[in-house]
Amino acid sequence: MNLGAPKMAPSRPANRPQVKPGPPLPPKGATQASGASAGGPSRPANRQGSKPSAKSSSSPATPAPVARVAPRQRPLSSGPRRIATNLYSATGKRTIRELDAREMRVLLRVDFNVPLSDGKVVDDSRIRAAVPTIKALLEDGASIVIASHLGRPDGKVVDGLRLRPAAERLAHHLQMMVPTTGDALGVGTEDAVKRLRPGELVLLENVRFHAGEEKNDPAFAAKLASYADVFVNDGFGAAHRAHASTVGVAGILPSYVGLLMESEVEALSNLLDKPSRPFAAIVGGGKVSGKVAVLEALIQKVDLLILGGGVANTFLVASGRSVGKSLYESKMVEHARRILKLAAERGVKVLLPVDGVVAKEVTRGTEFKVVATEKLPASWHMVDLGPDSITAMREALASVKTILWNGPLGVFEIPAFGTATRELAKLAAEKAEAGATVVVGGGDSIAALQQLNLAGKMTHISTGGGASLEYLEGRDLPGLAVIPTAGSPFETMPILWEAPKPEKKPAPKPKAPAKKSE
Ligand code: ADP
Ligand code: MG
Repeated sequence: MNLGAPKMAPSRPANRPQVKPGPPLPPKGATQASGASAGGPSRPANRQGSKPSAKSSSSPATPAPVARVAPRQRPLSSGPRRIATNLYSATGKRTIRELDAREMRVLLRVDFNVPLSDGKVVDDSRIRAAVPTIKALLEDGASIVIASHLGRPDGKVVDGLRLRPAAERLAHHLQMMVPTTGDALGVGTEDAVKRLRPGELVLLENVRFHAGEEKNDPAFAAKLASYADVFVNDGFGAAHRAHASTVGVAGILPSYVGLLMESEVEALSNLLDKPSRPFAAIVGGGKVSGKVAVLEALIQKVDLLILGGGVANTFLVASGRSVGKSLYESKMVEHARRILKLAAERGVKVLLPVDGVVAKEVTRGTEFKVVATEKLPASWHMVDLGPDSITAMREALASVKTILWNGPLGVFEIPAFGTATRELAKLAAEKAEAGATVVVGGGDSIAALQQLNLAGKMTHISTGGGASLEYLEGRDLPGLAVIPTAGSPFETMPILWEAPKPEKKPAPKPKAPAKKSE
């Protein structure tokens, strides 16, 4: 695929499966993936059809959705991209730039695990982030079978976790029809896949409706792989999971990473490997437990650590304060102490709140006031940073050139307790505009940015919650590890990924005095 990168002619295998010409295109407006009824009983005939959202169809400027993308004239023109223009990109992996996807059927793993409310997608950032790869493949003349999970249905069909709302958002962004199947497997789905012609796509139903997905069951992976000639993984948010649609299929099909995976890895690896200094991490959110490992890793990299939210409360306890009824984790206090010790050893400045907003209850309309963190009242909850802490944060960030932010600084869902989070969002936007690198991860932090319409100002918004954290911890992401190295020939299969073995704990020796191990 020529995306403006120096083209390396892919060796198209002689035995590449031929895509048989499909039947004529369906009439305009038809969005039904034929046979998709295989998965469920009593489905209306048009249930898989996905129309663009009301918003898109009501817009007078919106062209009618198309069923198929016409392949681009070659050579392809290259638009501005925020990804490496070099074949050997940050991932070190074979990317779709190396793929000539003409007439190929691509199994594309995306992460459409988006928040839903009343059957509507609340935040479609992850869907928008997958669009460049989808467009590039379609314009290259591929047909795409898209696979994603949504939520945790635990191997069962859960109607509230169907992917149709996601298909509607994708249809809106692509301005084309996005049919969904009623099941990831089944004769009807196979049929819908077989009918795909170059420039068309279909979205498989939630792969986690099958228990084989999370178990990385070889039979389930083989069925998914049977849909396509190649596999492209662009689901960064699911890359830390060794599941059938992330790892299993990559062991069967020639595999590539997509453009989102590439830009995510590039942004995060730049942070770890060559940040402009001073480098600050701002960590907030509810709980420390999910963030201990990343905090320990970040302490080795950053010059400044600013803490907020429930996370800061645990650190306040670790430094001898009492936090009243505030959210904190007693089991994490020791970890917090260790992180503070590590920070002191490395000379990392740690900013803990000096004042906070305390509330009688964590609810809207409750009584609240600002107090110094030395004098937190026993029966109140700390729910936001106070004005002096916000000023201290602003001053500390003044000279900073790189910012990584994960986790809101207060209970921002209640507007009265969202001041620090809003101030930080504005400050981060100002810093990014002034040339600093600002990377934001975490669903709630991104939601806070979006409420203020500031997401677009950041250098990079990471779509992967757990995956971003694991990457920053320095762990291998199985979905990435399994893809062959950049430049390897089409036929190259991955080195099979193996889960790291848990560290063996020494057997307890209750009586004998502990000996030093060699
Ligand atoms: P992200 O999704 O950005 O990674 P988290 O999921 O870690 O963030 O944390 C977000 C949650 O933390 C929000 O629901 C917010 O209300 C909560 N939170 C932040 N500060 C506090 C606090 N002081 N007390 C209780 N909850 C808090
Ligand atoms: Mg969250």
